[in-house]
Amino acid sequence: MSESLGSPDLDRPVRASRWSDAQSREALQAIAEGVAEVAGFELVGVSVVREDGYLQIMVLVGPEEARKLLIDSLAPLAPMVDQLALADDWGTLKFIPHERLILDLDRWGWVADRPRDHVEPGKWHPQDQLVAPLRGADGTLLGTLAMELPRDGLIPGPAQRETLEFYARQAARAVVATLEHERLAEQVRLARAAADVVRLAVGTQSPDRVLAECGRAITDGFRAESLWIQRIGPDGRCDGPLYVDGGPTVRLPAGIRALASAHSRRAWERQCVAVLAPERPVTGVLGPEQHAEVIEFLAGLEVESLLFVPMGAGRECFGAMGLTRRRGGAEWSEEEAATALEIGRDLGRALANARTLEREHQLVDELRELADYKERLLATVSHEMKNPLSAILGYVEILGAEPGLSDTALACVAAIERGGGRLAQVVGDLLLLHESTGIEASATAEPVDLGQAVTEVVDLNDAVARARRQTLRTELPDVPVLALAEPRDVDHIVTNLLGNALKYTPDGGTIAVSVERVGDQAVLCCTDSGIGIAEEEQARLFDEFFRSTDPAAVAQPGSGLGLAIVRRVVERHRGRIEVESAIGRGSTFRVFLPAAG
Ligand code: ADP
Repeated sequence: MSESLGSPDLDRPVRASRWSDAQSREALQAIAEGVAEVAGFELVGVSVVREDGYLQIMVLVGPEEARKLLIDSLAPLAPMVDQLALADDWGTLKFIPHERLILDLDRWGWVADRPRDHVEPGKWHPQDQLVAPLRGADGTLLGTLAMELPRDGLIPGPAQRETLEFYARQAARAVVATLEHERLAEQVRLARAAADVVRLAVGTQSPDRVLAECGRAITDGFRAESLWIQRIGPDGRCDGPLYVDGGPTVRLPAGIRALASAHSRRAWERQCVAVLAPERPVTGVLGPEQHAEVIEFLAGLEVESLLFVPMGAGRECFGAMGLTRRRGGAEWSEEEAATALEIGRDLGRALANARTLEREHQLVDELRELADYKERLLATVSHEMKNPLSAILGYVEILGAEPGLSDTALACVAAIERGGGRLAQVVGDLLLLHESTGIEASATAEPVDLGQAVTEVVDLNDAVARARRQTLRTELPDVPVLALAEPRDVDHIVTNLLGNALKYTPDGGTIAVSVERVGDQAVLCCTDSGIGIAEEEQARLFDEFFRSTDPAAVAQPGSGLGLAIVRRVVERHRGRIEVESAIGRGSTFRVFLPAAG
């Protein structure tokens, strides 16, 4: 209980309907009706003590006018306590004769419109009050049962008081049960708010969205006027603007921002929340001057109390949330404080996840940019190299044909030609790699006879194979197998796969190329009895610049671009490429392209 709020500065009783539970009211209503009926009073009301130091009239039996005015109204508790001290003690009941009335009934109650003067002794005066304070097992005042206006017009005698005592005890029990019920309902409400936060925040991809999605659930769950959330960056400073849900727009002055950040971290270390309100004791983490500064800031926004909750995960504090209530709002209960800290942890975890996801996205974007840059760089450089290289090779050819060159000069010319040729091959591959990126080829695709393409490439390589005693076989069906592709690309695929097969198959080995149609796909298969590829290297085979570490493969010239280009070309046609290989036993590459017709 707190008296910190003092009397509200209001002309009429404040209306509040903090208790939402209809069942609780029904139980109290039955008690009040019983008293009115059996004990014979025109006006019977049950009030309960709220956490913020007010009495709230929950139910009232009596004239409609009084019910309208008083149900759910609030009156400060302190004057009632003072008033009870002045009453006649009838045991459970306290009788307040009108002469000793100090309560301002015009402001906080209702007085029957009956003559107030010349009331005979023993008769009831319209301003007399009969109140049974309802106490819990530990003696705490939980509420009151108030009776006014006996039907017989008389102050109750001893016999009637006994009946009233009985009802007062019943009412006390009902109020205790009702309060307990409300407390449980409150816990459920808060637990739901907490669960909502977790549910909403899981998998949310940016810290801002975490706040946007959870903010409302928290404000509603706590029945707060507004929710403020200030994030703190890894450098310990406030990060970004204050997030606000409900209430007016707020901007934190520099001093308050600094306090918020320092206080959040300390509160997170200690795993505690703080209530900041004018009459509340200054908490351990804020000094008196800082406390006064915050209270003044809150007063400027008409905020009566602030529940300050740190947010974080592990040892790291990510900021703090503040739940505000206005004047007349309930005090922050222990359950609320505990749940708020839980939510601070949930939010902290959600923010940590979101931050990781955000960083991952940033990283992916950066990598993508880097890949784009690499592509552009390679394309530009190879493009710029192509013409000078052609010139070099042309002039070397002229030079080599010059008569009278010494043997040394001829050897030099031959070396330049070989090196230049290799360089031209790499530049050509790089340009091809760039060209085969991105855009799908469906617009320019046409039916291409795969068997014919294979025959042409095999014919070109036949002499080379024969020179190395390699058997070069083709297996082609009678019916042409048509792939929907660009002829130039198909030629490139076959040339590359067959070239590799010849290159990585020792002298005397066998290479077989076949084509077939499988469903709606045209399949090209190139098998060799060559050196094979280690299983752990197969996944990287189609990466740019990948070359095997196998010494037998390294011994062959190559740039590591051939298969990367093939894969890009194949994928441009919505096809795929597969490899099957075993070291020392050979390899099989299979290309699947959409079939035409
Ligand atoms: P390059 O042949 O220019 O090195 P590729 O991209 O065509 O580049 O091939 C990448 C690597 O894959 C080669 O270095 C080689 O180690 C391996 N490889 C490709 N085809 C075969 C094959 N038929 N048999 C064995 N290894 C192969």
